[in-house]
Amino acid sequence: MRRSCSVVAMAVLAALAVTGRPRCSFAQQWVDGRAFGPFICRAEFPLTQCEDLLGELEQLQGELVRCLGIPPAREQIEIYLFRDKWSYQRYLKKHLPNVPYRRALYVKRRGPGQVFAYQSRQLGIDLRHECTHAMLHAVLPVVPLWLDEGLAEYFEVPAHRRAFDNPHLGNLRWNLRLGIIPKLEGLEKIADMPKMSQTEYRYSWAWVHFMLHGPREAHAELGGYLSDLRSGRPPGLLSERLQRRLGGVRGQFAAHFKGWKR
Ligand SMILES: [Zn+2]
Repeated sequence: MRRSCSVVAMAVLAALAVTGRPRCSFAQQWVDGRAFGPFICRAEFPLTQCEDLLGELEQLQGELVRCLGIPPAREQIEIYLFRDKWSYQRYLKKHLPNVPYRRALYVKRRGPGQVFAYQSRQLGIDLRHECTHAMLHAVLPVVPLWLDEGLAEYFEVPAHRRAFDNPHLGNLRWNLRLGIIPKLEGLEKIADMPKMSQTEYRYSWAWVHFMLHGPREAHAELGGYLSDLRSGRPPGLLSERLQRRLGGVRGQFAAHFKGWKR
């Protein structure tokens, strides 16, 4: 089951309005730090252990710019890495007590976006996922929940696996074999994180995949939609925009995945 982020961010906003920004008051525990791209990272362990991963995060910023046509984050994004789950939990309990527990978190309020994660086998997935949220929210005033999660699911896997090897692809193919074509209109109605189950994460990922790798017009429409969001123009619904631009969009969605091979 996926962790969530944007809604957590909103929940945190409310909590922080009372409690103030979570302070890293026990700075003595950070044994290493690094600034790269838009990120400033502090860790409870030597960052030499994850040099490659930090390099990937910097490249991810370039990927978002290239694939989505958004500018790079101009504000700083803080990453806090904990040595283990227990240290991470202790920190959250103290500084973000009202936030439902997740394996990793993205938190945003008036200051810089903040990403929290701990050392585990999933650290790469967690950091790519949460940092995707952070980079989107650094340049867009608002991101619809389904799109936020769909993009984070797409970019959370290593670059060489994104197009053909995302773990969602197998289950989505089964959905399509059973005649289930995910409705984008349904995803657009989801306003609360708890309503995003693993199925909704998969469907959100699938619509993102369709727009990034499917018909050129779908990709262009995504770019136009994000540009409208960024400039404050009412963007309307992406489902309606895609239908207007492509016509028969659900059929094209199914055809895209049917023919999707290396
Ligand atoms: Zn997320």
